[in-house]
Amino acid sequence: RQADVTFPPVLDANEQILLDSFDNTSISTWSYYYTHGDHIAGRNKTMAQWTADRWTEYGFASRLDEYHVYLNYPLSHSLLLTYPNGTTFTPSLQEAVLPEDETTGYPNRIPPFNGYSFSGNASAEYVYVGRAQKVDFARLEALGVELEGKIALAKYGGPFRGLKVKNAQEHGMTGIVIFSDPGDDGNMTEAKGVIAYPNGPARNPTTVQRGSVQFLSIYPGDPTTPGYTSKEDSPRADKSNSVPHIPSLPISWLDAQTILQALDGFGTPGVQVNRTGWVGAIPGVNYSTGVGSGATLSLSNIMEDHITPIWNVVGIINGTNQDEVVLVGNHRDAWIIGGAADPNSGSAVLVEMAKAFGTLSKTGWVPTRTIVLCSWDAEEYGLVGSTEWVEEFIPWLKGAAVSYLNVDVAVSGPIPDIAATPDLHTIATSLMKKVVWPYHGSTNNTMYDIWTQVNTGEVGVLGSGSDYTAFLHRGIASIDLGAGSGPTDPVYPYHSNYDSYHWMATFGDPGFYTHKAIGQYLTLLLYHMVSDASLPLEPASYTPELQSYLAELNDTIITYNGTLDLTDLTAAISIFETSASEFNELRDLAISTNDTALLLVTNHKARDFSRGFTSQGGLPGREFFQNLIFAPGLDTGYAPVTLPGITESITFEGNWTLAQEFVGKTADAILVAAAMLKT
Ligand code: GLU
Ligand code: CA
Ligand code: ZN
Ligand code: ZN
Repeated sequence: RQADVTFPPVLDANEQILLDSFDNTSISTWSYYYTHGDHIAGRNKTMAQWTADRWTEYGFASRLDEYHVYLNYPLSHSLLLTYPNGTTFTPSLQEAVLPEDETTGYPNRIPPFNGYSFSGNASAEYVYVGRAQKVDFARLEALGVELEGKIALAKYGGPFRGLKVKNAQEHGMTGIVIFSDPGDDGNMTEAKGVIAYPNGPARNPTTVQRGSVQFLSIYPGDPTTPGYTSKEDSPRADKSNSVPHIPSLPISWLDAQTILQALDGFGTPGVQVNRTGWVGAIPGVNYSTGVGSGATLSLSNIMEDHITPIWNVVGIINGTNQDEVVLVGNHRDAWIIGGAADPNSGSAVLVEMAKAFGTLSKTGWVPTRTIVLCSWDAEEYGLVGSTEWVEEFIPWLKGAAVSYLNVDVAVSGPIPDIAATPDLHTIATSLMKKVVWPYHGSTNNTMYDIWTQVNTGEVGVLGSGSDYTAFLHRGIASIDLGAGSGPTDPVYPYHSNYDSYHWMATFGDPGFYTHKAIGQYLTLLLYHMVSDASLPLEPASYTPELQSYLAELNDTIITYNGTLDLTDLTAAISIFETSASEFNELRDLAISTNDTALLLVTNHKARDFSRGFTSQGGLPGREFFQNLIFAPGLDTGYAPVTLPGITESITFEGNWTLAQEFVGKTADAILVAAAMLKT
């Protein structure tokens, strides 16, 4: 272990009270509650009220904030494979009911489907399109594969699933079927001798990944209210650019096996397609494109459209400085009855954290800054609850929000993982040294030990895929945290019926000890954000990050063989560097002279400067995404791109004029941030 990490960690009195309040058994009770009922967005009001009641018990003034949003629910679907000789195969489209795992057999269990999918039928020959990323389609076109009028068969992994559907649609395809593949499970597969769930940690072959197919790269949130909040009487915009026009269905690898086999021997064999991630590991399949197979698919996906209420729970403890607010959020909706990892590991942790703050409050402790807990609805459809809420409260948040702490899947395995804006790196890293982290039976490590020794010890860059997005893109310091799995850990049954209490208690986190540890970490983070006299945000940490993003941009320019004048951007980063060090000097002075008025000034600067990184007009073609430093990749949906206005004008648009324009806009944004720090 590194020299500055003591074990056991040394805590102050309040930290000790907070962490001692954490109990793995009580977290398991909260988890059990959340994982035994229908959670689909707009159908979980009792869970919203239950959450509000717990938070109220622990001293948070809690309420339900209702929005009226567009959602769709599955009515009926079917899929049929017809061979050239007229014989047929009917995929089951269902996950096996397991006697060991009671919620998999609940009569109200939810069938596999895609949120915001198109209602319609398609019947045509089909082509295997790999992960359905732009490069995959480019490769198919280079191979001369006719796509127009065909159905796409795509593998999960890589880009956000909505972008797979978008790409297929843009190539004139009439429907898409998306399957999970054991090749994404590393060595933890039946093919490598690992026993499948429920008897072992490998993926059950019937597992289906549900999920939204919104085209989230344009606008997150309710697709009928882009950029403004969804109240009952809000005007509704045309949603046709934000959701698909072709039907889609997710299937298991077991169902996909037969469908892929009908393509083998036709078109180009998988290995010769020569694309990363093209060939998976379904036994007896060679992942051929399938051109000329003569086999057809008939796909039907019928959904029921609603404008329907959803409920965010909001719980508040007022601080003494009410113009400084720290928010903590987790979504509550899930695609399935369970959702033990996604999102209820986070939901259970939030209840236990509320309890810890309730215990601390009983000692007379009052936070300096206001705490706002949020339990979001409809995250799964497209970050809907959080986006609509931010769209409603943005005037207040712009002034008062210090940071947004997100926890979605708090636990799907034993390895800590965090991504954050640079100003949160120092506090997020140092608090890991104060948490005891259980790992594969050992209990003598801190979270920091495991994060540096088992994970990379590097804080990730935020892209998208969870509720921090609306905050990040309004310039609010954000972090996303959780614990995931490594190559020898049980396979996380993401968005399937097997993400259940039984899976979590048996494989994901037996005893709920990882839940406890990540909850303690989140609690310390919130405690220090709301009570440290000097706000623990470090603007200066942006400097080395901006410099490394600039270096990456230079590499991109070389790779794409063009030229850009980066003088203004380089100058802006160096001005930022100067302002940030001057800010540090002023803050040191405020601390050393115990000058509370000056400290209030520096705290407000630390709170506000990152608003400067946003631009009203947003990124090219996507107004919502205002942050010019980071964004979800247009071609990935989840994975981040840095200096996105410039980078994607090159990599996505091939438009060097636009890239040069965004050099100017990005430099200006960095200068605004620098000016806000200026003393
Ligand atoms: N977390 C959900 C998913 O990955 C929603 C992401 C989004 O719509 O941005 O499917
Ligand atoms: Ca909206
Ligand atoms: Zn989630
Ligand atoms: Zn999810």
